[in-house]
Amino acid sequence: MAVQDVLIGKGGVRVENLKKSFDGRVVLDGIDLQVHQGEVVAVIGPSGTGKSTLLRCIDLLELPDEGSITIGEVAVQAPGISRRQQYQLRAQTAMVFQQYSLFANKTALQNITEPLIRVKKMRKEDARQKAREVLKLVGLEDKEDAYPSHLSGGQQQRVGIGRAIATGPKLMLLDEPTSSLDPELVGGVLEVIRKLAARHMTMLLTTHEMDFARSVADRVIFLADGRIQEEGTPAEIFDHPQNPRLQSFLASHFRRELS
Ligand code: ADP
Ligand code: MG
Repeated sequence: MAVQDVLIGKGGVRVENLKKSFDGRVVLDGIDLQVHQGEVVAVIGPSGTGKSTLLRCIDLLELPDEGSITIGEVAVQAPGISRRQQYQLRAQTAMVFQQYSLFANKTALQNITEPLIRVKKMRKEDARQKAREVLKLVGLEDKEDAYPSHLSGGQQQRVGIGRAIATGPKLMLLDEPTSSLDPELVGGVLEVIRKLAARHMTMLLTTHEMDFARSVADRVIFLADGRIQEEGTPAEIFDHPQNPRLQSFLASHFRRELS
């Protein structure tokens, strides 16, 4: 099977009026967003503003209090999302976390084949073939027998991304995918995300690195006080921010970077 067959999702994602509180404190206060198929959308915003919560709600790792989520042909409406719907929606997605969370006692190849064999019930040989295609895509075809401890952080993150795409998600959710990497390793991850986008993978990611957001995203969303305050192209958001909250967020961010 060609690598492309693994990657193409259909339909993108639509979120409407998503609300989530923790212990009576509102974190997401009615989020509406859409990511079109093949689009890369980056969510930025102050720390603790709910960026991770938004991704976790879309993946139903956290159950939203209200709102609807549609990914491809699966639609769910909170409250009252059933186990079965949870499972169906999650089968459309793959999540990549800040920490690469690979199995330490398995090789790069085995890390990718494991979920294919166990969850997707794929035959061992087919799983190995798919894992090899995916390793090639993330630029690690010569590392299939390497254990995580022998891979750099950036390489581990690329195996993690490979593991996520191998399962054939329609939407990839990446929560701070470069935050635990040394700056010189960010480029490799960026390149992989670009490659996936070129193959029409739909991606929603969070980041606190503005340079990364600018270079990876088609569209940037600024989240603050539980709501989307502004969204636009990277040029609009970073060069011509309109919302005063966004203006001061960017000013303090770049001040911090200069200091
Ligand atoms: P960000 O990713 O933007 O830094 P988070 O989504 O991690 O923000 O967190 C948003 C807010 O929700 C924070 O105040 C955090 O403490 C709170 N929060 C997140 N997850 C939980 C949880 N499972 N239980 C209680 N509070 C939570
Ligand atoms: Mg976060």
